Amino acid sequence: MLPISVWNVILKNMEEAQHVYCDKHGQQDLKLLCSHLLAGSHEPIGFHEFEPENMAWCNECEKALSKTRTDEEQDQWSQDCGYKIICSVCWDTIKESNQIIKKAMNLEELEQKYNIQYPDIYKQLAANNMLDWGASGSSWYYDTFPKLKENPPLLLFGFDIEIWNDQELVETSIDEMSDEEDYRNIHPGYQFIPFAQNGAGDLYAFQFDLQKDGAVPVTLIPHDDEEAEVLAGNFQDFIFRQLLESVAEIDEGSIFYEEEEEDLKQNLFNQLKTHELYLTAKQVEILNTIYQRDIFEYTYKVPNGGSFETEGLVTFDEVEEILNREIASEYLNRSFNYTESPASNKL
Ligand SMILES: [Zn+2]
Ligand SMILES: [Zn+2]
Repeated sequence: MLPISVWNVILKNMEEAQHVYCDKHGQQDLKLLCSHLLAGSHEPIGFHEFEPENMAWCNECEKALSKTRTDEEQDQWSQDCGYKIICSVCWDTIKESNQIIKKAMNLEELEQKYNIQYPDIYKQLAANNMLDWGASGSSWYYDTFPKLKENPPLLLFGFDIEIWNDQELVETSIDEMSDEEDYRNIHPGYQFIPFAQNGAGDLYAFQFDLQKDGAVPVTLIPHDDEEAEVLAGNFQDFIFRQLLESVAEIDEGSIFYEEEEEDLKQNLFNQLKTHELYLTAKQVEILNTIYQRDIFEYTYKVPNGGSFETEGLVTFDEVEEILNREIASEYLNRSFNYTESPASNKL
């Protein structure tokens, strides 16, 4: 059992409590923990943080959270977790003993388990430690990210993407997709092996049912829409697409953003350097040329009729033109309803 003195915590201010009084640590900032983390365990049970509200919960609660869809379900979820107030020093102790060091990805194991063969480039990236974005968690941006900027791992400055390097995450995600109870109702005719996600929780996956001559297309699987979309015919083209799309719209929210354009460019060139090995010479040349431009403003006409002003190193129209020219393939940009069979989608 953990030496938790949380039960002795007294609320200093019942109205708008910002602080707690801990009998061990005195007055401290207030945080919240799920009942399981509070109860303690001999084994680590996971520690998932949510910064703005200073909450954390265990793996079981995380699993339950991933199944919630509506606001009511989320309210019920937070009740089930049984959140209790704890002092921030006690919180750190509990965090340390419950964080689970993720199991490094063993691609061979995954290949055997799912009877697949990952693309060579992906295996090469893994072998060169390019899938490793460092320890995840709420402090990632401040602690880990600055250290990665000089030698960016895979798609660090990509287009709304977080690369996975966690075998359990891959396995859990595949289990969920094939679960009959899963809300997405993905047709069993598809073989998706996810390797990344975006900020909204959509998955980037290898689509092995479309594999042909060793090339495995990469597909985006939305979490709230049944239309999946093939983004590239192979992994190399997917990397190229990401490095191109990420500079079409540049603002303070861009992950590679810096106050000075020169510094921002440095991030992009650093990334190009660590990614060269995995791209064709032509792709590197195109990116190099575009990254050397000055950021410019342009108006983008949306296909449905509207338009908006934005700025970047390349326009959306030019991106589309380059992709159609450089990474053309049988299924590029094909959308299909993943609840229906591949045959009915003519795949
Ligand atoms: Zn819990
Ligand atoms: Zn304390």
